[in-house]
Amino acid sequence: MAIWTWSGTGNGPRQSIQSGFSTSDAEVLLETVVLQSTVDEQPSETGIATPDISSAVELSETHLTILDAPGTQLPQPQIATTLSDVVRLSGSESKGSGSSFIPSALTGRSPKNRVEIGKLNGSSGPSEQAVDDALAYIARHQRNNGSWTMRFEDGPCKGDCDHSGVGLDPHEIAATGLALLCFMGRGHTMQEGEYSEQVSRGIYFLIQNLSTQSGRATWLTSVSKHEMYEHGIATLAICEALQMKGDAELLSKPCQETINHIIYAQHNDGGWGYHPKTPGDLSIVGWQFMALKSAFNAKLIVNAATIRGVDAFLRQHSKNEFMFFYTTEDDVPTACMTSIGTLMRMYRGWSKTDPAILKAIAYLAKEGPSSSDVYFNYYATQALFQYGGKPWTEWNNVMRDYLVRTQEKNGHMAGSWWYPGDRANPASIIANQTGGRLYITTMACLTLEVYYRYLPVNEAVSRDFQF
Ligand SMILES: [Zn+2]
Repeated sequence: MAIWTWSGTGNGPRQSIQSGFSTSDAEVLLETVVLQSTVDEQPSETGIATPDISSAVELSETHLTILDAPGTQLPQPQIATTLSDVVRLSGSESKGSGSSFIPSALTGRSPKNRVEIGKLNGSSGPSEQAVDDALAYIARHQRNNGSWTMRFEDGPCKGDCDHSGVGLDPHEIAATGLALLCFMGRGHTMQEGEYSEQVSRGIYFLIQNLSTQSGRATWLTSVSKHEMYEHGIATLAICEALQMKGDAELLSKPCQETINHIIYAQHNDGGWGYHPKTPGDLSIVGWQFMALKSAFNAKLIVNAATIRGVDAFLRQHSKNEFMFFYTTEDDVPTACMTSIGTLMRMYRGWSKTDPAILKAIAYLAKEGPSSSDVYFNYYATQALFQYGGKPWTEWNNVMRDYLVRTQEKNGHMAGSWWYPGDRANPASIIANQTGGRLYITTMACLTLEVYYRYLPVNEAVSRDFQF
């Protein structure tokens, strides 16, 4: 699910919130979209070395090497001495403070910190209510086996919602991963919070459906062409569960083994494609990268060569210094890919004063939030949040209130969202239709959790963003 590569031309002006959106335009445009075909070619043995999983367990020294590597210095804080103060005052930086969270970028999710940090970083009463309503909607759509589906006809509401995901594949691994990320982003864990039961059942579903071979675990139920999308999203979800003091006995092994598969599946170009060892696609790379980051912070073994490969991939997929494109086959930079690439650069320690970051932020700020492309909004919101300052405030004021305003308020679908996709980004139209209302709701919910979900990389409590 999520973003599919648009095979064609066009990088025209984006549809802005102010200018609205025409569904009929989207429907017409959809007919012109061509999906990128699945790449079946075998990768060559040259280029970036494919990590040997068997040696991964011996890489703890490499782990440290990455931490000490040049270029990973912490940028100077811009958002938040006040944010640090809140964290410090609430006591979550010290052991035995009562917080159940390890000091990390996830600290803001703690029920103890979330409200204050959220307010400081731009949440509002209505935006927090919107997250509450979204979580209630998502919880109502969990299936008896603990999973979620993007096809409502397979779900508990039996199609009472409109805009079910289109297609035969329910994308249940990705749907379950995204739903879990929404709950955990708000501080609900397997042990704590109003939705601990839903989180536990979802995590158990993912764990029980893993198949392990040669130290690598995969979800065989993920049969669609979006295999690595689903793997990256679900791996991120279970690693976050582990990171948030999840049951280590239950989660450590499956987390490491799914991470091992990510390490194994990296293509020689340093990225990940739809299937293991196929040429990389920046959109798919983003999910593997976040899963690796979370695993690293959960003290799992993450191969240094894998991360260096990601750095190389980012270099190869940027243009005009600050923009990014999906794949080398379709090297037209887009706003959406630029938001992902820029966020990844910041997570890799690029300074906010670096000209490439400054230009990217100025570009994204000028583009503004999309009225319909939830994938772009999800990443661009995080990039602007990490940057902070006036560009963030201006972005957030529009993005936050737009999401609050456009959420369903009544009836069975209350708490959810639906948008047709942005005609300036045909990939978003396909993604929205394929993922449907559940996918769009999870992305909108995660966007509204930005204030506390991952604290700014420049904060002392957020050092875990540095591989
Ligand atoms: Zn429904």
